[in-house]
Amino acid sequence: MTMMINENLSLEKCPALVLNADYRPLSYYPLSLWSWQDAIKSVFLDRVSIVSHYDRMIRSPSFSMQLPSVIALKSFIKPRSNPNFTRFNVFLRDKFSCQYCGSNDELTFDHLLPRSKGGKTDWENVVTACSACNVKKGGRLLKNSGMKLNQWPFQPTTEDLHRNGKNPVLIILSITEYNPFFVAPCSYAISLCSNSSALNFLIFSLSFFSSSCN
Ligand SMILES: [Zn+2]
Repeated sequence: MTMMINENLSLEKCPALVLNADYRPLSYYPLSLWSWQDAIKSVFLDRVSIVSHYDRMIRSPSFSMQLPSVIALKSFIKPRSNPNFTRFNVFLRDKFSCQYCGSNDELTFDHLLPRSKGGKTDWENVVTACSACNVKKGGRLLKNSGMKLNQWPFQPTTEDLHRNGKNPVLIILSITEYNPFFVAPCSYAISLCSNSSALNFLIFSLSFFSSSCN
């Protein structure tokens, strides 16, 4: 089936957000997005319900419909219990705050057991740290640094990350990486977001969205 839209918008900029049958995104980080083709296909296969749509028509010789922007699966998919180890997810686990001093500024990573001493880059050895604390600790072991850790690093579950990232503004911002048409609701959502830690959270989430630890 050949489909055409009646406007100039690139269809590549119209992904559909995919929700599970419980109406939560299949994944938050990265956000679960399907191409418009996959979204339409799943509508025709009756595997999803349309929750919301774009103001864009797609047409074929025999039918026309509005392009879905949010779809929900009809069958529940059990989410992965262990999220990927990514830069963004480490920050999310640590709530975008330095695990030594609590700052939200200039966040980077600290290896508890320094790499120079064989420390691994994994969930159990990497914590979020601000640049100042990272420099201060340097290549020392925690016990020799005189610094105190807020929370020992751990492998989070998907639930843990969902809990920390349960922020509609964050989700909308994630979408804007792909979809400029979400800018308006995004601005509106930011205007509702009055506390500064939430705003810091947003800024970091934009900067580090979907980037990975190396
Ligand atoms: Zn710090």
